[in-house]
Amino acid sequence: MTSEALRQSFLDFFEAKKHTIVPSAPLMPSSPNLLFTNAGMNQFVPYFLGEQKAPYGRAADTQKCIRAGGKHNDLEDVGFDTYHHTFFEMLGNWSFGDYFKTEAITWAWELLTEVWGLPKERLYATVYSPGKGDPAEFDQEAYDLWKAIFEKEGLDPDVHIVNGNKKDNFWMMGETGPCGPCSEVHIDLTEKGDTKGSLVNADSSRCIEIWNLVFIQFNAEADGSFKALSEQHVDTGMGFERVAGIMATTEGFTDFSKPPSNYDSDLFQDIFTHISNLSGNTYRGTVPENRDDLSGEEMTDVIFRVLADHIRTLSFSIADGILPHSDGRNYVLRRILRRAILFGKRIDLKPGFFAEMVAPLVEKMSPFFPELADQHKVIYKVIKSEEQAFERTLDRGLKLLDRITAEHDKITGAQAFELYSTYGFPIDLIQLVGRERSVMVDIIGFNAEMEKHKSLGGHQTEVISIVEAGEEDSRTQFVGFDCRDITKIETELSGHI
Ligand code: ATP
Ligand code: MG
Ligand code: MG
Ligand code: MG
Repeated sequence: MTSEALRQSFLDFFEAKKHTIVPSAPLMPSSPNLLFTNAGMNQFVPYFLGEQKAPYGRAADTQKCIRAGGKHNDLEDVGFDTYHHTFFEMLGNWSFGDYFKTEAITWAWELLTEVWGLPKERLYATVYSPGKGDPAEFDQEAYDLWKAIFEKEGLDPDVHIVNGNKKDNFWMMGETGPCGPCSEVHIDLTEKGDTKGSLVNADSSRCIEIWNLVFIQFNAEADGSFKALSEQHVDTGMGFERVAGIMATTEGFTDFSKPPSNYDSDLFQDIFTHISNLSGNTYRGTVPENRDDLSGEEMTDVIFRVLADHIRTLSFSIADGILPHSDGRNYVLRRILRRAILFGKRIDLKPGFFAEMVAPLVEKMSPFFPELADQHKVIYKVIKSEEQAFERTLDRGLKLLDRITAEHDKITGAQAFELYSTYGFPIDLIQLVGRERSVMVDIIGFNAEMEKHKSLGGHQTEVISIVEAGEEDSRTQFVGFDCRDITKIETELSGHI
């Protein structure tokens, strides 16, 4: 099944179950507490809080999500594993005071096994089982539903139902507010598929979580108690690329020899072909056993995955009006972009390569996300201008970094700050290089330098490029600036974005 057909079959399945299909919310979150939209439920928060009445009892969609920075930060795993992206689509179905656990669980099983044909004997369901001090009670209702399903399939519920505690199986929006237990579906993709649930939630690339079903039934009160809600809701989230990848790697569940990879799905193929053409390297699909000690081939594969992931994050964000810049979510994007450029350099990709990756991505994804085609030019220009700005100092910065790491076993706070402020190297990149070369980075010293710098007048010397207002579209003209006063730039920007 192609990824397009897979996405559509999810939406069709829930449409047939009387769900209203809604568009993805933008990546720019409506809540000031979030860096990016990071889950399907974000756009429905007012309904769960009872602040607004949902216009429908049931909804389903695919939601653009970014998990880089904040509570959910998967950036460090990207590329090194095969199932965490910074940008991904979360498929979801919702009930707003309508159906509850019976339908949510029954339909999840029906879609996964009957419509998509996932092998039943490899599926595991987790159920909330509180540990000491955890809220609420064992989720007997979910347990009973799964038990009936597994028994009907001739599978042992004692093996296929796995208990999970608060960390994995109790969802809370915050300290107070709507919350409830969740039940997740995991799939065992070991060669033999005989792990009996022992790898569930164990960070194994052979056994991954595919779907989270959250049952919102309590309100966490300020006094620490949990009150039953008068209306119960369902909030589910499934990793679209994970399912697409599982189907592709296993060739429709016929071959379990290779570890599953999201990057085997057609979603990434054109981008990989493009990187191959540009760099002369081939993607081989290896996954590093030990992240601190990668072979050349493993590193090349990590780089392919990082680049393919990061171009999606940058392009989708820019299309939604979030541009790389110097602080907050905008700086997260800039860091991701610079990370991509540094990784790309390692396989000798030429300056400007990252902007050239926009076209194959837009072509692949714009049939479902037309905003990419609409904003194609903008995306390209922003990335190109950012890339040029970074390229201006990149080689000199790398030389300095090489010299420091060759001569010392530590990067001092002052050196790290120089790399950051003069050469535009985000601190996490300096740490990444340090780790690879077994050189410590003095983060405390770096932070002290940063503070000192701020108190000396707050001039930001990081190389930056910014967007200037154009007459017809504020995001279409881009001018690179060096060594500008950051407050001034922010004032300029605030009017335009
Ligand atoms: P994991 O434990 O694998 O990190 P999670 O428990 O953090 O996942 P949820 O918050 O439950 O994930 O999100 C719902 C679903 O979204 C997950 O079941 C998974 O399939 C998918 N998902 C979560 N994070 C990512 C990611 N970084 N990249 C791709 N898919 C993801
Ligand atoms: Mg996670
Ligand atoms: Mg999880
Ligand atoms: Mg989860």
